[in-house]
Amino acid sequence: MDFALMGFGVSNRSVLKFILEKKLGKVFVSENGKIGEEDKKFFTDNDVDFEENGNTKKLLDSDLIIYSPSVRPDSPLIGDAVKKDRAIGEIEFAWRYVLKGSKVIAITGSNGKTTTVSLIDHVLKEAGINHFTGGNIGTAASDRRDEKVSVLEISSFQLMGTKTFDPEVGAILNISPNHLDWHKDLDEYVNAKMKLSEAKVFLYNADSSYIPSNKGLRVSRSDGSIKIKDGEFEMYGDTFSLRDSKLFGIHNVYNAAFASVISKFIGASNEDIQKALKTFKPLEHRQELFARIDGVTYINDSKSTTSESTLMALDNFKGSIVIICGRPKEKDYSDLVDGLKRKAKSVIIMGDIVPKVKPLMKDLVYFEVTSMEDAVLKAKSIARDGDVVLLSPGATSFDMFKNYEERGETFKRIVMK
Ligand code: ADP
Repeated sequence: MDFALMGFGVSNRSVLKFILEKKLGKVFVSENGKIGEEDKKFFTDNDVDFEENGNTKKLLDSDLIIYSPSVRPDSPLIGDAVKKDRAIGEIEFAWRYVLKGSKVIAITGSNGKTTTVSLIDHVLKEAGINHFTGGNIGTAASDRRDEKVSVLEISSFQLMGTKTFDPEVGAILNISPNHLDWHKDLDEYVNAKMKLSEAKVFLYNADSSYIPSNKGLRVSRSDGSIKIKDGEFEMYGDTFSLRDSKLFGIHNVYNAAFASVISKFIGASNEDIQKALKTFKPLEHRQELFARIDGVTYINDSKSTTSESTLMALDNFKGSIVIICGRPKEKDYSDLVDGLKRKAKSVIIMGDIVPKVKPLMKDLVYFEVTSMEDAVLKAKSIARDGDVVLLSPGATSFDMFKNYEERGETFKRIVMK
């Protein structure tokens, strides 16, 4: 069988490794950008054909194309091949070739995926359950080898490329408008996520207004399936404490609720789950309290790239001085600005999002700046004892930074300086 890989990023690198390892057939790599010298040497050594600086029809000579999650399935070059089942995304490839013999758990959502998947990973480690963790989280699904359980973080882009993917457990943590710079419209985005509702066991956040009501297991405060009291939450008859945990905020109660139900389904005991909730170290760049200087608290929430996650951060840090910046990917920011009006002390704006939010900002104290340095200096000059300065951008970092990590690191470095 001949394979073609369209795009040579994290996921298709793993596909190539798998195909070569298992000697499944000949491979042709087609990359839109440049291919590095080291990769070229690897291709030559392993008899892999390639093209760079553009994808051509040569791709179509293969029996199966695996396309990168950034490629739309209806793109002119491969649209027909997708319809004929001759082009699939990497998750579909992994499902057909790599994940056999593994119990697959798939988790999606607009926000909280990485936190919840990392939490499940931590519980399973605590419980000593052999497992693989991957997907949209640095390690591709196609990196799994013989682990009997696979916990996968799955994005809407990846779900656009699945056809027969049928995990044991599918979970949707929440849905809010996102990635509308790539998806045709909100329906397409919601429908991609809803593919997981076909999983054998389906769990979903029934409080999230964009998830159509469904027959799955509900995770909800409003219907009482999650009950919160005195730093504890009760879910399907089990009670877990978050009192000594570093997870704070209502969003993390939902994340912990999903993680505990799923971990239990996989085989972890309540004791393992409780211990793991206590020892979990929250991830960097997600509502991360990293400094208290002259009575002012600084929070780095650089990973917030949606209105919804910034609104969550505003709930946890009411009355903050908030830095909003980045490249927008939603159509309408009125909910975000309404939230800022109700919950922020003042707002600092910069970057590509400015023209989207500035016209909505009447009645709000705001400052416009052009660099992270100026944003921090401005925040410092207006902050008083007891204030919180919150970087929770609500948009992607790509207008000014390589990624959200670089944006968060830059913010922290300048604050500490
Ligand atoms: P994802 O992988 O879906 O982007 P992360 O766990 O990396 O999610 O968190 C991204 C952002 O969303 C951070 O700002 C974080 O504080 C916020 N967040 C985490 N969990 C939730 C949730 N359940 N609901 C809303 N926002 C959340």
